Amino acid sequence: MSETSFKSGYVSIIGEPNVGKSTLLNVILGEKLAIVTPKPQTTRNQIRGILSGKNYQIVFLDTPGILAPKYELHDWMVKTAYAAIQDADLVLYLADVTKPLPKSETRIFDRIHQANQQTILVLNKIDRIDKPHLLPIIEDYNQRFEFVDVIPISALKEDGIDRLKKSVLSLISEGPEYFPADQISDLPQRFFISETIREKVFLQTKQEIPYSTSVVVEEFIERNKKKWYIRSIIYVERESQRRVLIGKGGQMVRKIGQLARVEIEHFLDQSIFLELHVLVKSDWRRDPRKMRDLGYA
Ligand code: GDP
Ligand code: MG
Repeated sequence: MSETSFKSGYVSIIGEPNVGKSTLLNVILGEKLAIVTPKPQTTRNQIRGILSGKNYQIVFLDTPGILAPKYELHDWMVKTAYAAIQDADLVLYLADVTKPLPKSETRIFDRIHQANQQTILVLNKIDRIDKPHLLPIIEDYNQRFEFVDVIPISALKEDGIDRLKKSVLSLISEGPEYFPADQISDLPQRFFISETIREKVFLQTKQEIPYSTSVVVEEFIERNKKKWYIRSIIYVERESQRRVLIGKGGQMVRKIGQLARVEIEHFLDQSIFLELHVLVKSDWRRDPRKMRDLGYA
């Protein structure tokens, strides 16, 4: 390959819920694109982040964790993750070294195998175990699947990330520059705004509420020299959830709004006025038509 050749490719980050996929995407890009919470099933869509260098461009796809679907929304999430395997030039299979090898893994490996994808095993959270424990884990995984490379990392401590980038770069082929070099994602600003609000709901509420929540940006008005105006609706599945989200005298929704606003302003580099409403869309997670209305299409 000549020195001036350009490399590019799509790299999908796949794995069980909560192994650190979104944290990894953010650390690779050096920017918070994907929302991260301690709760599993935070990510619902394919989140694309673009890493551009002098001679390369890599589009990383963060995906929902692969789990046994319990309702329509799960089904959609798992399909989204499987589609990302299909669409990729390279798969990063991310695993949490502090957890035993999950049963669902065989199923995922079958999918990757069917799609005939080269796969790097990325062992995350090594900050939480002693080095000697790593070797038997690697052996276990190697017996299940033929990986092109194995890289232990800590996404949280940013350990092993350069090695991972080098490995990815060595495995993708010559290709075009898909996006302008300064573009970090191809998703619209509205998406990141609604995700930021959803993250705050995930962090501030408990039990079923985070999972029953969906956020839609209804209005987004850029005003010259003035605060931009954003009106957004937080949907929940039941009236009781709506009451909790609003809180006493509107306390809860105000808190969520304040936390989200700071982050959205940082992201847009612009002051905003954020108006939040909480509405009920009953049992939307089990209804494909309501899900489509909420943007899961
Ligand atoms: P995802 O569901 O796979 O996208 O996982 P997230 O990126 O949302 O992370 C789930 C949880 O694991 C969060 O609380 C993260 O802070 C935590 N986490 C991610 N990477 C690491 C790591 O390298 N070490 C440790 N100790 N925790 C991590
Ligand atoms: Mg995630």
